[in-house]
Amino acid sequence: MKDVAIVGLGCAAYTAAIYTARYKLETLVVGAEEGGMGMTAAEVGNWPGEIEITGPDLMEKFKNHAVSYEQVEHKIARIDTVEKIDGGFRLTYQSGETAEARTVIFATGSNKRHLGIPGEHEFAGKGVTYCATCDAFFYRGKDVAVIGGGDSAVEGAAIAAQVANKVYLVHRRDEFRAEPYWVEKVNEKNNVEFVLSRNVLEVLGDGKVTGLKLDAKYNDSDILKVDGVFIEVGSTPATALPLQLGCEIDDKKHLKVGANMATSVPGVFGAGDLTSGSNHFAQFATAAGEGCVAANSVFNFLQSGK
Ligand SMILES: Cc1cc2nc3c(=O)[nH]c(=O)nc-3n(C[C@H](O)[C@H](O)[C@H](O)COP(=O)(O)OP(=O)(O)OC[C@H]3O[C@@H](n4cnc5c(N)ncnc54)[C@H](O)[C@@H]3O)c2cc1C
Repeated sequence: MKDVAIVGLGCAAYTAAIYTARYKLETLVVGAEEGGMGMTAAEVGNWPGEIEITGPDLMEKFKNHAVSYEQVEHKIARIDTVEKIDGGFRLTYQSGETAEARTVIFATGSNKRHLGIPGEHEFAGKGVTYCATCDAFFYRGKDVAVIGGGDSAVEGAAIAAQVANKVYLVHRRDEFRAEPYWVEKVNEKNNVEFVLSRNVLEVLGDGKVTGLKLDAKYNDSDILKVDGVFIEVGSTPATALPLQLGCEIDDKKHLKVGANMATSVPGVFGAGDLTSGSNHFAQFATAAGEGCVAANSVFNFLQSGK
């Protein structure tokens, strides 16, 4: 049985693994996708020590650091279930394999939110995607829409503008809540049009996306003709696994943690975007900080012999 299983392969998980390894704890760090959400960040300019770095390069550094310790076993696998067993917890992978650990840190991040409008599901993968920075490249010379008003949407529009012919940034409010840095960047692009104070009612298509139906006219039409749609309307915390153990969730559906990143279930900790920590400010720096604190709490928990 490992001392700790860290579920996730993103910023919070790798940071936690670096710390648990240095506490000489036998550590399993396991997740479905290496690098997590960080892989979708085209440009990171607020990770201390790196004036500018791509998300994938940053995540590669995190991973290389974590696996440099002999205490760390690194595994790529999706976990379907987690249960309490005598002296710890059992994780069951999608493959049916299992792993056991005395403590668990959940660092499962968040899942992209869907709009739930007609056509969205039907055209998923046929012009509808949930990551502008990942998929914009496929829309070279095309007209696309990015839906949303936060960092991901505005950054996504700026990235898409580098390859697409025209980018419509569609937002239901009249101003963006994204970092001013990204708003300024997108403002510099002459092929981005802001379609503000409009809701998208439907994704239209014929085998593949052909447009969006809006709730109010834009340029004399309530149909916006596009070849691709990037839905960037935020994300919901990935709490399915801690919920299986009965961990408490806060009113914003985040995994409830204390200042020490402990959940309501003894031996279970959380770190990163899925938690109620850091004032719900989901960033690399906060995810890393929470991973660090969670690892320290695991060490204290095991030391106290609970
Ligand atoms: C486009 C974009 C740009 C961004 N740019 C910045 C930026 O410039 N600066 C900044 O500070 N932040 C930025 N962020 C936010 C930052 O990426 C996140 O806050 C951070 O990556 C969260 O890390 P995490 O470890 O909590 O979760 P994640 O990185 O999401 O990792 C979650 C991990 O859990 C795994 N997982 C989930 N469920 C399971 C399961 N059932 N079984 C196994 N594994 C599972 C996933 O595969 C993944 O490995 C950006 C986000 C986006 C989307």
